[in-house]
Amino acid sequence: MTNQTLTETIRRNLGSVQQQIAAACERSGRPAASVKLVAVTKYADWDWVKTLAKFHSAFGENRPQQLAERSPLLPDAEWHLIGQLQRNKVRQALQHASVIHSVDSSKLLRRISLLAAELQVRPQILIQVNISGEDSKSGFTENELTAEWDSITQEQGHVDIIGLMTMAPASRELQEAQAVFRGLSRLKSELCSHPASVSSGITLSELSMGMSGDFEVAIEAGATIVRIGSRLYDGLQTQ
Ligand SMILES: *Cc1c(COP(=O)(O)O)cnc(C)c1O
Repeated sequence: MTNQTLTETIRRNLGSVQQQIAAACERSGRPAASVKLVAVTKYADWDWVKTLAKFHSAFGENRPQQLAERSPLLPDAEWHLIGQLQRNKVRQALQHASVIHSVDSSKLLRRISLLAAELQVRPQILIQVNISGEDSKSGFTENELTAEWDSITQEQGHVDIIGLMTMAPASRELQEAQAVFRGLSRLKSELCSHPASVSSGITLSELSMGMSGDFEVAIEAGATIVRIGSRLYDGLQTQ
């Protein structure tokens, strides 16, 4: 594939995703600018990412290692870590991502907060919630999060807790995804009116939900960040 074809393919894919985002926003009575697209690059060849970077500047990686390799090559981009984070990779993650979507335990949050202080950075944090309750999914259950919310809000010293993140069930049923997204949106409202949120100034303005197969439904349920990978690379084949 020539460079020109690659550029055209990526531009067309990005354009069509952006149009669908705008249309979903309009159906929900929201401005298109209320949804941020994080372009997920985990399966993308480096060439594709570089090409995408001509048109787009927010990227998501799900492994800290690949994040650490790629983010220095595009230093002006905004990098998000969206995948599971092990405690021994926190330092690496903080050095390369400004937003972490996958904080799935209080222990991990505490570790992030500690290292953020040491590295003098202030990451934006999303708390990952396992709304569907599937065993295979990581994240707080709703009950855990509600029970631990008081202590979570006390970690605001060195991080900004900006919102919640979830993944829809693996099933291809859009209705199931919709139920999960609505569940996260409801949980956000509940947590926002929690006295601990009010006293610590946490507003949870962001809902990170929706991927290639279900982002329109997610936007209709209130997503403010969608994480989209494969749709951007339609028609391309990895080397
Ligand atoms: C891979 C991944 C995505 C993007 O998935 P696509 O179906 O390729 O759009 C979004 N979020 C997370 C956490 C991922 O790991």
